Amino acid sequence: MPDGTLLLTGRGRLLTPRPYDGPGPWAIFVRDGLFAWVGPLADAPAADSTVDLGTALVTPGLVDAHTHPAFAGDRSDEAAARLEGAAYSGGGILRTVAATRAASDDDLRALTGARLRASLASGVTTIECKSGYGLSTGEELRALQLIGEAADGLPIRVVRTFLGAHAVPPEAASSAEYAAVVADEMIPAVAAAGLAEFCDVFCDRGFFSPEDAERILRAAAAAGLGIRMHADQLARTGATELAVRLGAVSADHLEQLDDAGVATLAASRTVATLLPGPALVMRDRMPPARALLDAGVTVALASDANAGTFGAWGAMPLVIGLGATLLGMTVADAVGAATAGGAAALGLTGRRGVIAEGADADLVAWDAEHEGAFALYLGAARPSRTWIGGREVSG
Ligand SMILES: [Zn+2]
Repeated sequence: MPDGTLLLTGRGRLLTPRPYDGPGPWAIFVRDGLFAWVGPLADAPAADSTVDLGTALVTPGLVDAHTHPAFAGDRSDEAAARLEGAAYSGGGILRTVAATRAASDDDLRALTGARLRASLASGVTTIECKSGYGLSTGEELRALQLIGEAADGLPIRVVRTFLGAHAVPPEAASSAEYAAVVADEMIPAVAAAGLAEFCDVFCDRGFFSPEDAERILRAAAAAGLGIRMHADQLARTGATELAVRLGAVSADHLEQLDDAGVATLAASRTVATLLPGPALVMRDRMPPARALLDAGVTVALASDANAGTFGAWGAMPLVIGLGATLLGMTVADAVGAATAGGAAALGLTGRRGVIAEGADADLVAWDAEHEGAFALYLGAARPSRTWIGGREVSG
């Protein structure tokens, strides 16, 4: 906990995530690691120290609600082959599984830590991290443990998700048989060890059926884990409807979502987490962001940084830019989706992703004066200064 109170002041754009509407220069009072007051500088309380951020654009710390950092190996050759016309079969995930199983604890921890540091340097202050390249009880527990160890000593806040159902491992006889192992053996072990807050399933054509996914996610909920899903990325399987029926906090991807799926989400509290990075790299269709927003669905933007379909760590500024340029979102909506939206996708509404009283004091001042920079700089907007829990972590 930082010592004393802090007053951050500025006269530029302040997105809370909605633009601050004055009057005049603004001030943010920080106490005990939380935002304690936000308002006009003229009304600000006195603090032990003051930092003037001048005319910089200021946003909440970014929340990247979908990443896969715990892996070894390199599949850039596969990306090139895919762009030359090879079909995405998902067999590539098993290549990463083999490389990850072969990696030492030290190597896997170091690789994961480097990805977390790249994310932090890009303005991400909360990041969701999935397992899913181990696909055995021991390897999945190891990945979750090493994510935790990689995060130790780094200021970035990590939320862990168990994704044992990312692919069917080569040694399993069928997806149903493996789903039973995930539900009956892995989930109790993960929950008992306290290694994850959420459980996710890759429910899609060629991966896990809605039946397999339901079995796994019901076991997860019974074990006290929150649930989220990879849904309707490759084919319209009904995964989104299952996510809503099971009360998942988030349905992620949604490239193939249709009007009926939009309506289903609109009638639920499930967040739509959109991932334009892999859709772009895979030359896939983009998820229907505009229709989701117009229907009143809470939308998050996340990177889906992973081993095989989007390898860019530290790319959340680009993802916001893609939200505005490819998904038809306003830039302010895109920033909101990467802050408050990401927080909603992690069940952290009001605690992260907003500059408002009672939220964790996670904040970024950017090397730009307006959120339009996320579109104009397209991936190159960078933090100039970052605070997490009221403590400056760079600059
Ligand atoms: Zn993913």
